[in-house]
Amino acid sequence: MSSDRPNLYDLSPGALAELFRRWGEPAYRAKQLYRHLYVQRTADPATMTDFPKALRDRLANETAFGVLRKKQLLTGDDGMTRKVLWTLPGGDPLETVLMIYPDRATVCVSSQSGCPMQCVFCATGKLGFLHDCTPGEIIEQVLWAERELKAFLAASNPQAKIENRRLSNIVFMGMGEPFNNYDNWWTSVERLHDPDGYDMGARNFTVSTVGLVPGILRLADEALPVNLAISLHTPDDDLRSAMMPVNKRYPVAELIEATRTYTEKTRRRVSFEYVLLKEKNDFPEQALRLAQLLRPADRPPLLCHVNLIPWNPVPGTPLSRSDRRRVLNFQAVLKEHGVPCTVRVERGVDIAAACGQLAGG
Ligand code: SAH
Repeated sequence: MSSDRPNLYDLSPGALAELFRRWGEPAYRAKQLYRHLYVQRTADPATMTDFPKALRDRLANETAFGVLRKKQLLTGDDGMTRKVLWTLPGGDPLETVLMIYPDRATVCVSSQSGCPMQCVFCATGKLGFLHDCTPGEIIEQVLWAERELKAFLAASNPQAKIENRRLSNIVFMGMGEPFNNYDNWWTSVERLHDPDGYDMGARNFTVSTVGLVPGILRLADEALPVNLAISLHTPDDDLRSAMMPVNKRYPVAELIEATRTYTEKTRRRVSFEYVLLKEKNDFPEQALRLAQLLRPADRPPLLCHVNLIPWNPVPGTPLSRSDRRRVLNFQAVLKEHGVPCTVRVERGVDIAAACGQLAGG
């Protein structure tokens, strides 16, 4: 794909209008194109039969309907988890995971290729930072997931009515740190939310951050009420700094203060992610300190929920996963102290598609 062509998914409605104005097309055509991209969700100009043939050809020859090249598709969980490995125009890897459930479907999207945050337990961090996704590169992953969902449903049940089946949730928990690529990430959210376009409800987005305080505060002031998840992983500064270098910049107390500001401004509950590593951060005393951090004696409890994630193996990492007993003990302590808490149900471990396993291969 030649890079001098504009990627249509990178263009706002205004930029599409500007492109068509330069081409000498009437303004309503740009609106039609926007609807093709985000309402009909077609990526093939040949199907845009309300356009004159010359315009369809021009679109095919001079623009790109996406730039991600599919390198490999892996399926697991009886086909219900589908991971695609992409190649970006510059050659960097990117991954997207579709998780299909009987009554809903979630896509886990990447915001960067690689990641600069260097958390020791995560496979993506091992790649280092490679590339900030453009808004179009984020949007394309979602549109792929929806097409993949429909194809899967059609193949598994030819009688089913699938035209109206949509993705239920978009989670930014793939490769990268969304708040490290805030502008592009947020542009993709606003575009996918647009009621005149893709029309995904704000509450159906969840962004997960390593704990970049400026991003949390910025999100607190956005108009769209998307969900926020924060990777906490331990209540203790020393251990957190050893596991997650970001903690040296934004230590636990500052992170919790920013989270308080966020919940007070938005009145929305946040979730804290807590990856459980055997005999590192899964002791009952740590659960107790976590409970005290989230429900301090002298302040109102934080409006939150804890999501425990038994660590998924990353090759070459000298860590181990907490066994079931330790996970349940940890959860019991939190519950005893009034902290709402669930254990994340895993998907895609057999195809390295689970949390923290996306390493571009
Ligand atoms: N950069 C964002 C999104 C990352 S992935 C963030 O840090 O939140 C989403 C979640 O998976 C994060 O909570 C991350 O800490 C967690 N994770 C990373 N590696 C993991 C692993 N090997 N097993 C389980 N969860 C992991």
